[in-house]
Amino acid sequence: MIEPGDGLVDAANLAGVPDEFQRLWTPHRMAYIQAGPDALNDDCPFCAAPGMSDEDALIVARGRTAYVLLNLFPYNSGHLLVCPYRHIPMYDDATPEEVAEIGALTQTGMRVLREVSRCHGFNLGMNQGQVAGAGIAGHLHQHIVPRWATDANFFPIIAKTKALPQLLGEVRSAVAGAWPAAS
Ligand SMILES: [Zn+2]
Repeated sequence: MIEPGDGLVDAANLAGVPDEFQRLWTPHRMAYIQAGPDALNDDCPFCAAPGMSDEDALIVARGRTAYVLLNLFPYNSGHLLVCPYRHIPMYDDATPEEVAEIGALTQTGMRVLREVSRCHGFNLGMNQGQVAGAGIAGHLHQHIVPRWATDANFFPIIAKTKALPQLLGEVRSAVAGAWPAAS
């Protein structure tokens, strides 16, 4: 029981607790863990993903200079990322061909998500640099976040009854299945 005047315990001194929370909330890392030690040795997941199967890497489409995968840390179901294959940090490092293909894949991603998930809107964007909120600052990625009027879940029944790695697999299949062949 904390009494007035007692010294408050600094949460930062409670060894181990933050780490336990970290483990509890990252079951979706299974998608990388299942890919085996080679993928784990690569410290850039966006460089490692194209070398894995679509299913393991949650890739929904592969272009010539860029590809599309599900975000392992989705803000919403169906949250896609469009990445160049090259490990470049900034949008202005991309070649004109990469810019064009990232743009085209983003448009296709919007159309596919609209069809598959009946979303009402999108947030599109790139966080450029760690100070701007980029989680993986070294490798450019464009977010496509589908939005609904109520932000109800895209697969509410699955979301309530399945672990997140399975949910992501179901979403990947739906998006990849609806992706047009020649885009
Ligand atoms: Zn990379």
